[in-house]
Amino acid sequence: MSLGSQIKKENFYGKIEIICGSMFSGKTEILIKKVTNAKQQNLKVKVFKPKLDNRYSSNKIISHDKNEINAIAVNNTNEIVKLSKGLDVIAIDEIQFFKKDIIKTCTLLSMKGIRIILAGLDMDYLGRPFGAMPELMSIADYIIKLHGICEICSGTANHTFRITKNKLTIDIGEKDKYQAVCRVCFNKKNFQNG
Ligand SMILES: [Zn+2]
Repeated sequence: MSLGSQIKKENFYGKIEIICGSMFSGKTEILIKKVTNAKQQNLKVKVFKPKLDNRYSSNKIISHDKNEINAIAVNNTNEIVKLSKGLDVIAIDEIQFFKKDIIKTCTLLSMKGIRIILAGLDMDYLGRPFGAMPELMSIADYIIKLHGICEICSGTANHTFRITKNKLTIDIGEKDKYQAVCRVCFNKKNFQNG
């Protein structure tokens, strides 16, 4: 490895970064940008996503702005560990859908010096912390919290409101099922819906 790429790697050596926020806040866009930059620095990068998310395409991550990168869809965290040998950087999208063992996995991989970039929803459709996100945000070195635009009042949105009546925590969808809304509109809507 050249001195230049060694320095580029050392900057984020073993660091855990989280990109979080509501739906339609641009999380995947930032993840793609960070992965693209790492690749341009000649770092060895792989991108993972949970297999249950089949939006758009199974072997790609595509942002709402239609940028895309290749990604490996995995069933569990063991597959991520197996596929991470010799890498400088791993990125994982939709991190909220993984089981809580993802926390241990990220810790172990960071101890090997791998830079870990995670993106996902910090809250579910009822405003509850989502999956392993609270713990991951606690152990992360860096947190980027993004906001969308409230679809009711055009304010700053940090919640994801589910338009449908489905009560399952996980219900994969897009604008057909979800809206980005601000805290005030989120509370009003939930109150109206009882
Ligand atoms: Zn609003």
